[in-house]
Amino acid sequence: MIPAGAPGEPTAEEAWAAAHPWGLYVHIPFCPYKCAYCDFVAVGPGPRVARWHDPYVEHLLAEAAYWRDRLRPRRPPVSIFYGGGTPTLLGGARLGALHLGLAALFDLGGDAEVTVEANPGTAGPRDLAALRAAGVNRLSLGLQVAQDRLLAAVGRLHGRRDFVAAWEAARAAGFRNLNVDVMYGLPGQTTADVDETLDLVASLSPEHVSAYGLQVEERTPLHARAARGEVSVPGEDAAADQWERVRLRLGSIGLDHYEVSNFALPARESRHNLLYWRNAGWLGLGVGAHSHWRGARWRNTPRLAEYRDGVRARSGAWTRDHEPPDAARRRSEDAFLGLRLLREGVDLAAYARRHGVSLGAAFPGAVERLVADGLCTVSGGRLRLRPEAAAVGNRAFAAFV
Ligand code: SF4
Repeated sequence: MIPAGAPGEPTAEEAWAAAHPWGLYVHIPFCPYKCAYCDFVAVGPGPRVARWHDPYVEHLLAEAAYWRDRLRPRRPPVSIFYGGGTPTLLGGARLGALHLGLAALFDLGGDAEVTVEANPGTAGPRDLAALRAAGVNRLSLGLQVAQDRLLAAVGRLHGRRDFVAAWEAARAAGFRNLNVDVMYGLPGQTTADVDETLDLVASLSPEHVSAYGLQVEERTPLHARAARGEVSVPGEDAAADQWERVRLRLGSIGLDHYEVSNFALPARESRHNLLYWRNAGWLGLGVGAHSHWRGARWRNTPRLAEYRDGVRARSGAWTRDHEPPDAARRRSEDAFLGLRLLREGVDLAAYARRHGVSLGAAFPGAVERLVADGLCTVSGGRLRLRPEAAAVGNRAFAAFV
């Protein structure tokens, strides 16, 4: 059941949500190619795909207006994140116009973080200038690795030089808050490759780095190739070694390891992603987008035509898998999401105040086991995941599921 912004006595969940910032996620499902490991809601190029670009922007604005009228947020979002897919495939002018439309609908404040994901080759100087002019103040660029042979092996059509050109264009356009995505554990990736990628990253002086180990997801071309024995990914020990190099090197260039997979200069943490990890509210727009609003969760259909028909009819029928607020789920989420934030961790007193029960009582024996296993520490009233254990964080998160 999707919550309406009905007047009346707020529930505890509504009161909590109203007192906390929220964000807007906008999914742009178009890509210039389809990567072999990708299981996101993203469509590669095709003669009919580009025809969706203009209507899709209209559908996003229609969905936004629907939710604004129905949910009636009491404050503007603190962040908007355009993810995908490759949002910049829409072009700077179209994407800028979409942003201005959403900013007007939600009375966006001037200090909001506005992030656009981009891939090399999809954002030229004019696009970047249009995004800046519209109010975009952060870009997230996908490098992944610095070796063209590895990029080609997973179906990414850009090379190292394309990435560096995109990065320099972003700086030249005035972006002072840039993220670079890197990956480890790719088929054929060696520790020397990882070091070379980190050398390139260090030379760029990024404000933020997201570093992810490759997950071979089912129903992807890479999974099929691995199942046929055509490619092999580094084993667990090799991937752990690569991760350790990533962690130590990024720390050595002044980036704080503030979340399991994320590193930032001081005050450059991703405000948008902090909302997710703090289990705050967000509204997801577009195909495949997920929402978390006043404790309820739902997701949108991944099908473009179904999405179009639903938003045109203002029926709400484009949403799926509704989960009402659930106190037990919230106790679990607050614990394992909090652990993802390495510096913040779980504030044990705040947890008990919010849930009316201590973490120890909600999950008997869990904290003691995690500390005994060397995965977590307790100090200053907070439970924290040890940075060295970030690569095996799932073992700690499982204690609260
Ligand atoms: S660019 Fe990203 S969203 Fe697009 S196909 Fe590759 S991994 Fe998927």
